[in-house]
Amino acid sequence: FVEVIRKKGLDVKVETIDDESDVVRKTGCCGLCSLGPLVKIMPEGITYSHVRLDDVEEIVEKTIERGELIERLLLTDSVTGKKITKLEDATFFKNQTFYIMEGIGTSECKKIEDYMGRGGYKSLLKVLSSMKPEEVIETVKASGLRGRGGGGFPTGLKWEFTYKAKGEKKFVVCNADEGDPGAFMNRTLLERDPHSVLEGMIIAAYTVGAQKGYAYIRAEYPIAVEMFNKAINDAKKMGLLGENILGTGFSFDLEVKEGAGAFVCGEETALLASIEGKRGVPRPRPPFPAQKGLWGYPTLINNVETYANIAKIIRDGVENYRKRGVEKSPGTKMFSVTGPLKLTGIIEIEFGTTIRYVLENICGGTVEGKKLKAIQIGGPSGACLPEKYFDLPLDYDTLKSVDAMVGSGGIVAITEDSCMVEVARFFLDFTKRESCGKCVPCREGTMQSYTILEKFTQGKATHEDLENLESLAKIVKTASLCGLGKTAPNPILSTLKHFRDEYMEHINGKC
Ligand code: SF4
Repeated sequence: FVEVIRKKGLDVKVETIDDESDVVRKTGCCGLCSLGPLVKIMPEGITYSHVRLDDVEEIVEKTIERGELIERLLLTDSVTGKKITKLEDATFFKNQTFYIMEGIGTSECKKIEDYMGRGGYKSLLKVLSSMKPEEVIETVKASGLRGRGGGGFPTGLKWEFTYKAKGEKKFVVCNADEGDPGAFMNRTLLERDPHSVLEGMIIAAYTVGAQKGYAYIRAEYPIAVEMFNKAINDAKKMGLLGENILGTGFSFDLEVKEGAGAFVCGEETALLASIEGKRGVPRPRPPFPAQKGLWGYPTLINNVETYANIAKIIRDGVENYRKRGVEKSPGTKMFSVTGPLKLTGIIEIEFGTTIRYVLENICGGTVEGKKLKAIQIGGPSGACLPEKYFDLPLDYDTLKSVDAMVGSGGIVAITEDSCMVEVARFFLDFTKRESCGKCVPCREGTMQSYTILEKFTQGKATHEDLENLESLAKIVKTASLCGLGKTAPNPILSTLKHFRDEYMEHINGKC
């Protein structure tokens, strides 16, 4: 774009990470991944999808210079099937609830001024000027916020444990080691709204009494690392981070640690070991990080999306915050939806929204009208739920009641032509490779489970293999040390529960 615009003699500056120019602006992901790369022309907001290098000259000549639309590059609405000119008009976006992702596609907040213009850092000011740590803890507890990284543990309680823990030093850590294949909620937030995460971390540090923090971000997310480092530097320049923040006497410093790509480092004790410079393997709990975390000191560790909720809870108040979502799962949740759907990508919905609404009203149903038979939810170690559960609300407790989990927020749509035994084998292939090998049930159990699943997909399995697979899955779930091993058998157990007939068909040579 820059080259073509310059060639035409139009005035243009390229925005780099430190450049203040707005003429050509690189943005983070807006969520609509299946239609990318997207180009949005301001101020009209005309948005083009699947833009290729060959299209650039035409876009500059027709749309930027003459204001004409290029029909073939316009977005096709997932639900109505009609062409639309603006991103915001897509049913995909209209049927979502943007709260954590507020301003998506319209207000990129990589500049601290943009974030402040949207009311950013006012919550930090309020907390530092008028709230005691105990009040912040009570507010977070009353909001009902639960950890967005997978477990759904009440965030306020975690903060209280760390606040009450005794230690000469305390740490605050952000878990941005988003390792689930096909999930990039955290990356999206860090790339396009890093200050919302940073503000939450600073409030957390003040509340629990931490002086130092780490954001553990996967090295595979170079833009997120760059954006968060820029956010840290900009906040320091504004006196919002570092020594004597805003003259209050409270000091807090923060740095980015890049993860090296091990899935297990998303487990909090493995992540802490990795920050300490040790091999990233989990350790038994208790003691929990709130009591003994980094270098033995009390450490608060929360997920990216959890921190992004904090400033909004303070800004909007508990009552307003709880208007979204359901009683025991208040607020919204970002999900990453993949599979053969018309539109896929990152979405944000209120807890309590049904699975069917996500698949049909946001993502527009399947391509080629294929029938959906299941979803796999919660990341690679999530459960597979058949179509009869699609009217269930998505929230922590409802999913738990059917042996599934919100997990990191990954949803994979599965159509009727997919083999569920193959689906289980596919996910076990991932978890067996990512097992750190520290404990026997997970190290050997995932490998043996995978071997048995291969026998099924190769048509060599017997009834005995079915029994062995089921009992092995239960042992791995019960006896493994950390969450990776404890959840790895979920794809097996859930497909055995809901799609046992498909295992039998493999045994009986029918497929
Ligand atoms: Fe490592 Fe698996 Fe044991 Fe966790 S359960 S400690 S990943 S071997």
